[in-house]
Amino acid sequence: MPGPTTKPHGKNLFASRMAKTPKSFIREILKMTEKPEVISFAGGLPNPSLFAVEELATAARDVMADAGRAALQYSTTEGYLPLREFIAERYRQRLGLSVGPDEILITNGSQQCLDLIGKVFLDPGDPVFIERPGYLGAIQAFSLYESAFRPVPLLDDGPDIDCLKAMLEETPARLFYGVPNAQNPSGITYSEEKRRAIAAALADTGTIFVEDDAYGELRFGESSVPALKSIDRESRVLYLGSFSQLLFPGMRIGYVLMPEETRKEFLSVLERTSGSTSSLVQHVINAFIEDRSLEVSLDLARNSMASRMRALCKSLDALLPRMPFEIPQGGIYLWLGTPGISGDLAAEAAKRVGVGVVPGRLFSYPEEDIQAVRLSVSRLSTVMIREAIGRVASAWNALT
Ligand code: PMP
Repeated sequence: MPGPTTKPHGKNLFASRMAKTPKSFIREILKMTEKPEVISFAGGLPNPSLFAVEELATAARDVMADAGRAALQYSTTEGYLPLREFIAERYRQRLGLSVGPDEILITNGSQQCLDLIGKVFLDPGDPVFIERPGYLGAIQAFSLYESAFRPVPLLDDGPDIDCLKAMLEETPARLFYGVPNAQNPSGITYSEEKRRAIAAALADTGTIFVEDDAYGELRFGESSVPALKSIDRESRVLYLGSFSQLLFPGMRIGYVLMPEETRKEFLSVLERTSGSTSSLVQHVINAFIEDRSLEVSLDLARNSMASRMRALCKSLDALLPRMPFEIPQGGIYLWLGTPGISGDLAAEAAKRVGVGVVPGRLFSYPEEDIQAVRLSVSRLSTVMIREAIGRVASAWNALT
């Protein structure tokens, strides 16, 4: 009988999946944003000056006074009912989705939804389609399940449909993960035509579209494009939402709209993973949004991101006219092509003049050097944006 000190895996200390997981660039990006001397377009953190601290403090005090004991108790696995009712009602009104509170599962940020999706749907080696460039958080979450990523190129109005169809014919995937509104990292919003084409292409393939809508409510323009979830009546869509970019990322509240046939599995994995999401945090966020503070915070976030984005586009047009970009219709990211300069070199050169940008390479897996960089406007004033683009313009122009 082997004794308790025997190593069952020989020399390997860690599970084999750890070797297949890309190293955490998110941590590296965050490190870069922390240096005070750098004007950083790098991180994706929301602007803390927009956090409604006082209103949240009032909501927290009200919760402790009115429902402190319930708020400090375990939550049900699916989450606090009034919050789920609020979310369901909002989607009925905003996107015309016929969704009830029982279809909503509250999670610890939408990052946990991605992990749950991995647990429920992915076996090692399963193909996962993902936009190229794609969201790092999704690449990281699904890589833990040893997915075989297949990149779907992103064009100016959404994924390349011909390529998607060819890929579906070759190897239908378990999942196709995408961010149709103000995508991270490209800032692209899919056109309605593209959304309908994706729904049609996925019909009868068994591939589920994971629609991550972290930025849907951060649209600048008036017009809205229907969610894939509302186009695909047969519910091959898992829709994810999050309060992180709208309100407070530190509260860690996200959710997934689960089609009925997946409910049992989602509840079962959440129960086994974290038991439930923080009851206290759900009560406080619910008290905050019941007070209409959500609308006030959203207006503020939208307006301030729109004016930052306008400043960025104007500076780019003026100082870097050779570098192509699509004007984002929402969110915080802009994807800047750097023709003739590798994204890595462009990021290095920017760093030397005290500006942080993220090279395109980080948003593909397997990695490849892309001639593009990601810029995030969320934490920079319009004055800093102009100053930073002035600096990188001289640095990049010297490279060509
Ligand atoms: N999805 C995308 C595409 C994002 O960019 C972000 C913010 N980084 C999120 C989701 C939010 O994640 P979470 O709810 O885990 O904070």
